[in-house]
Amino acid sequence: MKPMNFLKKLLKTTPTPIKSTLTITSSNGFHMRPIAKFANEVKKFDATITIEAKEQKVQATQVPKILSLALETGDSFILYSVGEEAKEADSYLKDYFNKLMMEDSKVEIAKQEDENYQAPSIYGDTIVKGVGIAPLVKYKTIEIVDDTKKSVDIKEAIDLTKEELLNLYKDSIKGEETQIFLAQKEILSSEIFEKEFKSIEDLDKVFNQEIENIKDTKFKSKVSDYKDLKKRVLSYLGLKSVLKLPNTPYILLAKDLLPSEVNQISKTAIKGVILEEGSLTSHASILLRSFNIASIIVNKPICENSSCNYPNVIIDANSGDIILEPTSRDLRKAESKQKKIILENDKSYSKRFEPSRTKSGRKVRVLANITDVNSAKEAKDDGADGVGLFRTEFLFTKSKPSLEEQIRAYREIFELFDDITIRTLDIGGDKSLPYINIPKEDNPFLGLRGIRFSLYEKTLLKEQLLAIFKAHNGKRVKVMFPMVSQKEEFRRAKRVAFDVAREHNIDISNILFGIMIEVPSVILALKVFDKGVDFFSIGTNDLTQYLFAIERTHPILKVDLTSPIIISALKIIIDNTSKPISICGELAGIEEATPELINMGYTNLSVSSKLIPSLKEKIRSI
Ligand code: PEP
Ligand code: MG
Repeated sequence: MKPMNFLKKLLKTTPTPIKSTLTITSSNGFHMRPIAKFANEVKKFDATITIEAKEQKVQATQVPKILSLALETGDSFILYSVGEEAKEADSYLKDYFNKLMMEDSKVEIAKQEDENYQAPSIYGDTIVKGVGIAPLVKYKTIEIVDDTKKSVDIKEAIDLTKEELLNLYKDSIKGEETQIFLAQKEILSSEIFEKEFKSIEDLDKVFNQEIENIKDTKFKSKVSDYKDLKKRVLSYLGLKSVLKLPNTPYILLAKDLLPSEVNQISKTAIKGVILEEGSLTSHASILLRSFNIASIIVNKPICENSSCNYPNVIIDANSGDIILEPTSRDLRKAESKQKKIILENDKSYSKRFEPSRTKSGRKVRVLANITDVNSAKEAKDDGADGVGLFRTEFLFTKSKPSLEEQIRAYREIFELFDDITIRTLDIGGDKSLPYINIPKEDNPFLGLRGIRFSLYEKTLLKEQLLAIFKAHNGKRVKVMFPMVSQKEEFRRAKRVAFDVAREHNIDISNILFGIMIEVPSVILALKVFDKGVDFFSIGTNDLTQYLFAIERTHPILKVDLTSPIIISALKIIIDNTSKPISICGELAGIEEATPELINMGYTNLSVSSKLIPSLKEKIRSI
């Protein structure tokens, strides 16, 4: 059978109604941001998709309805897909959901340090580290009535708010905070806001009902999103409520803040925020993190009955202390802490383009793990010394990119860096492509993954290699094969590469070929591989999974990524290889492990790009 026919056979075409069970594995539950992202993806399919849980069935496009199911960690729901694209939708959404759960990591509770202030201190949980000294200002809003907006009706106000949120979403640069605006827009797009509203009271009722639905659930912190939305809609109707804030530095004391209020304070001389209620995972907390505003939650009222007139308050979010009436020694201590923090932050970021050497002069290269052109540009801007892992499968997630599209993307990325490692498609296991039918397997993590799939169905591999070769333009590029477990696989993959180059008459003398070390069998055959490959890169994520026989996405079973067993495996690897070697799994970015990795001889670490400046600085301190 010709390869193209085979590929066509693999492509799914028959739409059939299907049902899948999905389980919430994120410790945050299925909360607003992932729900909104999920609902947004659902809309892209020509299919009717519903969610069934707790004896209720809701449309998978309706954010508030899904939210009101209050699905927590360990709960499951059934996803029903019916219609023309049901099969594609089911396959894509299952995958997308699992990815969302993985990305939605538990919020790290900032580690607090001990501090001894002389004056009494009020202790709280740290949202964002930092130290601020300024007068305390109590939360106060002022209502502004704008008569010029009287002509706008409620429907128009809702539409304008949706437009505003969409623009905020598009204009934000990156990160979790952008999803907040998308989540809020999705709420307003749900059918409960499609009815005809006769009055503001009518609108109020709908908001109050939704708040009522979630106020006693794990998602009660999202009540502020409904309040925020109401505020945004009302402002288009001429009823504006804004925070009253000084022009001079201040520390804000509030019960809780709405996301839009965090935006407002971020544009002022704010030195810190003290919240008397709220949670570390609320949208206000996420935004405080993204604006890096020192903040603490105390979970109790402060200065309830007094006038709250404190002209010199210390907020030390590094230790969790709030000192309302500090002594002059306390003030000196806080000031010197402030200076140190500023110096440290400035130092690592401003030195991100400089090479990182240990104190003894050993150069360690910090490379980036990237997924596409945008992440490559971010990596460049974050000071990456090169790309240690280009996970190309991310270019393939929605649909198969054409040869030309691949060439364009690869070329643009190759031009950005002198040192680049591109990994051929790594699908299978937890990474499936909606348009490719991998034969059903009982244990996908032990099945047609990575190079095994590419060798089983070579069409995609051949096209990808051709795109890489055409894009490389004589430049030195490292091509890496994933999930290699036997030397025969590497040999066959390399032969495919040479056949492609010969068929298209492309000189690939500058292309290097290597493998990921992520299957334990390779460790037992290092000497054999060492003779054949040009380089190695260790995927500690999969290596850990296969060493411990614990699925990396398992909701209950977890392995410590810095376990001494992994460290011993890394030691065996470095002692038995002579070719250039790097680490590109998560372990490469865990700073507690950095001294040990360097000590063993690992001097190429590939990490997610936002970790680069501080990892470089850590290396300089070793
Ligand atoms: C790994 O397994 O450690 C790795 C870097 O690859 P991925 O996480 O993409 O499987
Ligand atoms: Mg891997």
